[in-house]
Amino acid sequence: MIKNGQTQQFDKAAFKAAVEKHLTTTYAYTTESATPHAWYLAMARALAEISTGNLLATEQKLAKEKARSVNYLSLEFLIGRLTGNNLISLGLYENVASAMEELGQNLTDLLEEERDPALGNGGLGRLAACFMDSLAAQEYPAVGYGLHYEYGLFRQSFEQGRQVETPDGWRGVEGYPWEVVRPELTQTVSLYGYVESYLDEDGNNYRRWVPGMTVDGIAWDLPIVGYDNNSVYPLRLWECRSPAPFNLARFNDGDYVGAQYPALEAGNVTKVLYPNDNHDQGKALRLMQQYFHCACSIADILRRHHAAGNEIEDLAKLETIQLNDTHPTIAIPELMRVLIDEYKMGWEAAWAICSQTFAYTNHTLLPEALETWSEALIQQMLPRHMEIIFEINHRFLKEVEAAWPGNNDVKRKLSIIQEGPQRMVRMANLCVVSTYAVNGVAALHSELVKRDLFPEFNELYPGRLTNVTNGVTPRRWIKYCNPGLSELISEKVGSDWPVHLEKIAGLAEFADDEAFQQRFMAVKKQNKQRLADWVKTNMDIDLDTNAIFDIQIKRLHEYKRQHLNLLHILALYHRLLNDPTFDMHPRVFFFGAKAAPGYALAKDIIFAINKVAEKVNNDPRLGGKLKVVFVPDYRVSLAEILFPAADVSEQISTAGKEASGTGNMKFAMNGALTIGTMDGANVEMREEVGDDNIFIFGLLVDEVQKLKQEGYDPYRYYNADSMLRAAMDLLDSDEFTPGQPGLLSAIRQNLLEGGDPYLVLADFADYVKTHEKIDAAYRDQKTWAHKAILNTALMSKFSSDRSIRDYANNIWNLKPVKC
Ligand SMILES: *Cc1c(COP(=O)(O)O)cnc(C)c1O
Repeated sequence: MIKNGQTQQFDKAAFKAAVEKHLTTTYAYTTESATPHAWYLAMARALAEISTGNLLATEQKLAKEKARSVNYLSLEFLIGRLTGNNLISLGLYENVASAMEELGQNLTDLLEEERDPALGNGGLGRLAACFMDSLAAQEYPAVGYGLHYEYGLFRQSFEQGRQVETPDGWRGVEGYPWEVVRPELTQTVSLYGYVESYLDEDGNNYRRWVPGMTVDGIAWDLPIVGYDNNSVYPLRLWECRSPAPFNLARFNDGDYVGAQYPALEAGNVTKVLYPNDNHDQGKALRLMQQYFHCACSIADILRRHHAAGNEIEDLAKLETIQLNDTHPTIAIPELMRVLIDEYKMGWEAAWAICSQTFAYTNHTLLPEALETWSEALIQQMLPRHMEIIFEINHRFLKEVEAAWPGNNDVKRKLSIIQEGPQRMVRMANLCVVSTYAVNGVAALHSELVKRDLFPEFNELYPGRLTNVTNGVTPRRWIKYCNPGLSELISEKVGSDWPVHLEKIAGLAEFADDEAFQQRFMAVKKQNKQRLADWVKTNMDIDLDTNAIFDIQIKRLHEYKRQHLNLLHILALYHRLLNDPTFDMHPRVFFFGAKAAPGYALAKDIIFAINKVAEKVNNDPRLGGKLKVVFVPDYRVSLAEILFPAADVSEQISTAGKEASGTGNMKFAMNGALTIGTMDGANVEMREEVGDDNIFIFGLLVDEVQKLKQEGYDPYRYYNADSMLRAAMDLLDSDEFTPGQPGLLSAIRQNLLEGGDPYLVLADFADYVKTHEKIDAAYRDQKTWAHKAILNTALMSKFSSDRSIRDYANNIWNLKPVKC
């Protein structure tokens, strides 16, 4: 049944003709010589044509209506494959499957041909992708602005258990079929040089940036297709192209580019995504990426504003700019520069616009992730921006003086400039000072932002600091990735739940219905089989779907504590071999995680898990009770197989360290039970599902802080707990690295001598005990099914549609516009 405007025109014969035309004219294959990959490309191109038409129509309609829009600025958009998702949004899945069938092709197989556009690291980039999906589904006018990296996040493989990174050329040689280049939107971006003063004809004094070089910004649009509506919004990704030969000559002149020459010669600013998650590396090329992104995006926002016939004075009325973390902070001084230097606006008028246009999302409290840039670097690369930052700070410190007269401590603490041997610009402080709203991403996190990170800012600017709890799109994370569950849900609560997730609450009344429980668990079993098949095909490991599938998938980071999970596995291993009274339900522990290439301990943890897996999976003494599977190259398309197959979701960060998490939400929506700490959005998930339907353990935020203050001693736990000691000591043996003891010692060393900064040992005993409760609960399948159904039923709060409505109502003041 064709239901909406985007699909009304669907004409199967015309679509097939379009596919064949692309196959022959775009990709130069005959129907005889075409590979499955070529068929996929041709099909995706034919579909992309439909959405490109709607993209332009949406653009025109919104311009004509002078609709207020949000501009979502993010250095990362981890969108995942588009074809299957867009087919669902367009309502064309069945139609296209049948059309392709008639062309002798299987749609499911073709969808597997698409490479993931991995233009993000993890949660932050995936959030941006879910938000674009929710903006389009609810028709809140929006443009996403990001970077068109030539290489996305590295691809991960394992060699003898160690992570190996290879470049991710996500576009292939043919280019990505969903993207369309927009040459008319090209921008020129300046870098380096100096600032000078000059007088205009009327004798007014102005500042002017004389750049050392320029680069071009090319716009590529990806269509964000609204679910079951006519809106298509652009995800606009900027690609940096080499400077023109004229500039190259200047570029060769050391006066202009000085020490930056090698970085620039290496090429293209948008060559590769920095692979760090929750860690600030502070490389000059990264600053250049950030500025390039901001300069192109600000210029494009102003272009759109004027193209729609609007005056610059009305910018804040019609546009808002959301900064996804501090990565695009330099957009603030960039807009100030344009308004003052190019529009010749006074400081106050420019500031009034800027401070009413920008809003900022804080994603972390981890000190190593809070960005600072050396003043010297900014001075060299962006001299005019440095002047503007100084002026913002100068005026801000006057406000601080008025609020706390004579208090230099508070000035030092709040200043945008951090004093020291090398003066640094604190990007988060610049954001809080210059925006009209600052939000954390879960209730607990936002409280900690106010209480621990920015208490004085909260006093100085009452109401500015706020919360918007993260969410995930139910279109990709239930409907697309879990068709079996989706059918069950639709049968019970109707088919519009993907855009009205409140309706899944209707499932709760079937939580005790035995027939429904069985169907729910049968779907889970099928999804476990799909994962087991993937593991058999790709890793040649045999798995039993009667085992508990216990899954931890997320970036590898000490604060996320994959090593706590590992210690538990080692404890089980030890008990199975040494305690004849010990019994456990068979369990498969899955991991998926990439480590930043420079993060040695994270890579050691991957190695250790792989080595333990090798041994455990082949040890007949364990009777198949324990398996460990580390899936390589964790990415969105693998996540789509893993989340639906989980019985248990591992969300075990040290309390206060995970800002929100979104993997936790995807698991629970798909009927997994969480074992988790009182951290991030786990806290709100517990509120929704109730204490009986989630397994909470570990220290609370305040207990963590207290323990640290009192002087935490990991040896206290090590000495007192023989099971913990056994698990830890296995890491020092050659049990998993025969003949080579010590290969896994770095982890033990870090936990004992390194002070265990994330309190792994302190939470170990409670973690083990809570896993025993899970084991017992799983043995009662009816009770388990009851809990699993309630998890799915009670997750509606965590739809990113709700997050976006919160932003629209409480921050952006944005109204939907029907297209
Ligand atoms: C959801 C998701 C994440 C975020 O997971 P967390 O557990 O919240 O850290 C990271 N990577 C991918 C591919 C995801 O889909």
